[in-house]
This record gives sequence, structure tokens and C-alpha cells, in this order.
Amino acid sequence: MTATNIIDGKAFAEGLRKDIAGHVARLKAEHRLVPGLSVVLVGDDPASHVYVRNKGKATLEAGMKSEEFRLPASATQAEVLARVEALNNDPTVHGILVQLPLPKQVDSAAIINAIDPDKDVDGFHVVNVGRLNTGQPSMVPCTPLGCLLMLKHHLGNLAGKRAVVVGRSNIVGKPMAALLLGESCTVTIAHSRTADLPGEVRRADIVIAAVGKAEMVRGDWIKPGATVIDVGINRIERDGKAKLVGDVAFDEAVKVAGLITPVPGGVGPMTIACLLRNTVTAACRIKGIPDPQ
Ligand code: NDP
Repeated sequence: MTATNIIDGKAFAEGLRKDIAGHVARLKAEHRLVPGLSVVLVGDDPASHVYVRNKGKATLEAGMKSEEFRLPASATQAEVLARVEALNNDPTVHGILVQLPLPKQVDSAAIINAIDPDKDVDGFHVVNVGRLNTGQPSMVPCTPLGCLLMLKHHLGNLAGKRAVVVGRSNIVGKPMAALLLGESCTVTIAHSRTADLPGEVRRADIVIAAVGKAEMVRGDWIKPGATVIDVGINRIERDGKAKLVGDVAFDEAVKVAGLITPVPGGVGPMTIACLLRNTVTAACRIKGIPDPQ
């Protein structure tokens, strides 16, 4: 990839992780604080195992404490709740993440809302959703936070920009819209019932695509010079080969956009980096130390 308008999320995430490792080293030296992240994994979904392994590895590489708790696919709601409760009460744990999806017999919302909101590094607890939407310090969901950091790095002040967020999920679309509103963008949230999606996208200076439909956003929907952040991860087969593509038709959009994230190598690497960032933030808040980030 050589075009100069492509945002290199991998390099940006590596830089962020290096900065975080520096903050962690200083927190250890100056405050004897080792931020700790605990991940709870229930069942044997292979993709979840890969995610959890990558999160643990990145946590250790940043110099933090990492713990993983595995429960069988047959675990009851009470067993998962007991594990969360134990982590809430453990002073060496600053971040708790329950890997989703959970098995059918476990109520995900009840588990997420049982996490101490101050340790909820995924930012999914209703208290954090409320804090984010009322402009209070909150834990912010990692993927939208990663998108925002990239946008601010490349565009600076976002105030007054027209943003369209395609997708209204609780983990990406809605928090992304809240973050952009917090930056004083004029925000439109589009979804499967939006009447004229191409028209909505064409008006936007910033397009966030978080849909889960391969290459749905076409190049001729993009306003020339707009910034396009593609959150989608879709596995497709093309020319007999497995391929990872985003929600944006990259080859078309890259010719029109001012800036664009590729898939892979755009938003994806930022998600884990932001999980580490959130763990440092949680540790500092819990200990009453200024957050260096
Ligand atoms: P969800 O399935 O929860 O939400 C998808 C959203 O897209 C819904 O709001 C849905 O609308 C909307 N949508 C579906 N079809 C259309 C359409 N034809 N036109 C307009 N909107 C539509 O997905 P997530 O938010 O969890 O994830 C979105 C994508 O981002 C996925 O590809 C996922 O893999 C990826 N992802 C990537 C991450 C990363 O680290 N890079 C992290 C998280 C997700 P409605 O509400 O009306 O149904």
C-alpha cells in the first residue's frame, strides 16, 4: 500500500503501545503501581480464545499484570458472577473484561453490569454508557476510542465537522456517535432502516462504517476529501482465496477519500491498544493518580 491518504493503523497502534509501556514503567517506578487486567473466558469459541490470547500477550508486553480465567461452556450464571465478584474485590485487578459472546444460559447484560464500573475496561456497563452520554469521565469502548484517537491525530480539532456513523450497535455505533458529539461534530447515525444511506454518507466529512457487510459503502458515496474509518471485518472468498475486507469498497473509496483506513491494518490493531490504555486509565483513577495519557 503506497497511497499517501491511507491511515496506517498498525503503526499508530504500535506507537500507542510503546507510549503505554512507558507510562506503565513510570507508574511502577514512581507509584509502585502495576496496572492489572483480568480476562474471563467462558466456553470454547475458537475466535474468542485467539482474542483472549492476543490481549494477554499485549498486556504483558506493556509491562502490566495479566490474568486469564477460563470457565467451561457449561458454566452457570452464578459461577460467572462469582468470578466477576472476586475480581471486583481484588485490589491488584484494575481492569476486568468478560469476553463475549457468552454461552446461551448466561445473561450477558447481567454479567457486564455486575462488573465494577471503574474496572469495566470494555466500557459496556450501563453506568459507563450513561457517563459517556452525559459527558462525564467514563471507560470508553475500545474500538470507537481507537477510531477517535486516529481521527484526532490526523484531523486535529473535529468541531463542526459533519460525521455519519453507519451502524448503531452498543459496542461500536452508539458510543462512536457519542464520542463524535463530544468533539462537537454534527452527527448522523445511520442503520438498516435509513431511507437514503448513500445520500447521508455523501454529506459527511467523516464516515465511520460499522455494519458488518462486506464493501457495502461504495466509492461514489464518499464526498471528495472526506475521512473514512472502516470498522468492518468481513471474511469473503475472492478468486478462490479467503480475504479480509471492510464495510467500505476500499479500492473505490481510496481514490476519493482524503484519508481512509484499510482492512486489515486500520482500526483492528487500535482495539487492543485502547484496551491497554483503558487499563492504565482505570488503574490511575482507582489509585487517585493523574492519568498520564
Ligand atoms: P452489529 O451487527 O451489532 O451492528 C451492525 C449495525 O449495522 C446495525 O446497527 C445495523 O442496523 C446496521 N446495518 C446492517 N445492515 C445495514 C444496511 N444495509 N445499511 C445500513 N446499516 C446496516 O455489528 P457491530 O457494531 O458489532 O460490528 C460492526 C462491524 O465491525 C462488524 O464487521 C464487526 O466485525 C466489526 N468490528 C470490528 C472491531 C475491530 O476491532 N475492528 C470491533 C467490533 C466490531 P440495525 O440496528 O437497524 O439492525
